[in-house]
Amino acid sequence: KEPTDINALVDEYLRLAYHGLRAKDKSFNATMKTDFDNKIGTINIVPQDIGRVILNLFTNAFYAVTEKKKQTSNGYEPTVAVSTKSVKLPSGGLGVLISVKDNGNGISGKVLDKIFQPFFTTKPTGQGTGLGLSLSYDIIKAHNGELKVNTRENDGTEFTIHLPV
Ligand code: ADP
Ligand code: MG
Repeated sequence: KEPTDINALVDEYLRLAYHGLRAKDKSFNATMKTDFDNKIGTINIVPQDIGRVILNLFTNAFYAVTEKKKQTSNGYEPTVAVSTKSVKLPSGGLGVLISVKDNGNGISGKVLDKIFQPFFTTKPTGQGTGLGLSLSYDIIKAHNGELKVNTRENDGTEFTIHLPV
């Protein structure tokens, strides 16, 4: 682990995800919103590992809004919002909250039970390994943090990461 500027890390991987998808598909487009808490100092993490988690959440979010865009005729603006916040953890200690929120189709109840299982995917063959969230879960656990999901069918999904400082 090393002291890491979490805002800079999130920003870097957001660009990486966006430009990576854009390079594969020129028609890819989504609005990105960022809200970084500047009061967060550096936190002790394995930056490559947390980077992978964030990259996976962004990739999933961009996929979700792109799918919804295909199904929606007009007036839909695919949006992925990310925020960081310095918070007090239930344990009393200080923590950091990272939120990745999309306005895609959300996750149905019967799918929701399985999303953290290795190899579970609803994506067509070749488009998803089903390993992203299970790996992310393990990485966050190894950091003594928490990875949670909030979703509303047809409305969108928010993944939150809590990390102790
Ligand atoms: P993969 O992306 O390879 O399918 P993941 O482990 O990253 O594997 O995600 C597992 C499944 O969880 C996805 O196939 C999808 O059904 C669901 N999922 C994850 N993130 C989202 C999201 N932001 N919106 C809707 N569904 C999601
Ligand atoms: Mg994924």
